[in-house]
Amino acid sequence: MKVLFTGIQPTGDIHLGNYFGAIANWVRLQHEYTSYISVVDLHAVTIPYEPSEMPGRVIDLATTLYACGIDMEKTILFVQSEVPGHADLTWMFNAITPLGELERMTQFKDKRDQFRASVNVGLLDYPVLQAADILIYKGEVVPVGEDQVQHVEFTREVARHFNSRYGPTFPECQALLTKSPRVLGLDGDSKMSKSKGNTIGVLETPEKIWAKVSPAKTDPARVRRTDPGTPEKCTIWSYHLLVTQEPELTEIHNGCTTAGIGCIDCKKRFQANLMKVLDPIRERYGELAGSGRKMVEDRLEANAVKCRAVAGETIREAKGKMGLKKVWKIES
Ligand code: SF4
Repeated sequence: MKVLFTGIQPTGDIHLGNYFGAIANWVRLQHEYTSYISVVDLHAVTIPYEPSEMPGRVIDLATTLYACGIDMEKTILFVQSEVPGHADLTWMFNAITPLGELERMTQFKDKRDQFRASVNVGLLDYPVLQAADILIYKGEVVPVGEDQVQHVEFTREVARHFNSRYGPTFPECQALLTKSPRVLGLDGDSKMSKSKGNTIGVLETPEKIWAKVSPAKTDPARVRRTDPGTPEKCTIWSYHLLVTQEPELTEIHNGCTTAGIGCIDCKKRFQANLMKVLDPIRERYGELAGSGRKMVEDRLEANAVKCRAVAGETIREAKGKMGLKKVWKIES
């Protein structure tokens, strides 16, 4: 099977955007690829954070991923900072990466504007670490959304630079563009994101979710219950597309356009269908965070050992090609 790599930052609770936009896809892909999923804590320290919260966030994220369906037996889920080779390889790649290529990255420009008071080198170097994350496992496939394609292309460039300078070593990975939806935030204006405060958390209780969903904006044309609406102009409809099946979906579409259904009823039906997805995740999370906690920790530990072995091999190979080896081992 081909090697797939992906990473996720431990920056807070997982929301529907993370779940439907990425994680549900990884759950499916783990049956088709040898999958490495990294909790990328080294990336997370490039933006302001509270050190005392980091260990809790890491274990919480790993637990949530398992609760969402990441298979402990199939997928190698690990914590990035537990594998020192990622930072080693980043340095080797730094030595062959033109500065201009990093300065052009869209994500760097966004972050530079967002954290103007504290733009650190890590923000600039982020794509190089990302390239090391992928290539240290000789990753061939990287599942991404449109906004991350530039980073995969950058990783391909890094592999090309290295291979042409030191000889064939790294594969040129492919972006696996999936049909994963871009999930809108509850404000209806932008992508669901922690920084925008417009999220529905995967582990939130039904009561908390309803408190967020019930006042959410719908199609502004539906002022009165008798006013027909256009589902395509409504955030709740975009959520139905994630969780509601046919024939109910068509029924709701028709109900909206004919004013046969009111917005509150429509939201209740969305919530009911959403909870069919989230209830089992929340239950599983409860088990894993309680009596299953040791099992999660042991698995992360075992996976880190596995990753260090694979990464160590790649580092040895890359160092050898770069002439970074003990003089008494130079072959004639
Ligand atoms: S009926 Fe549903 S889809 Fe139509 S505007 Fe109301 S909430 Fe949105």
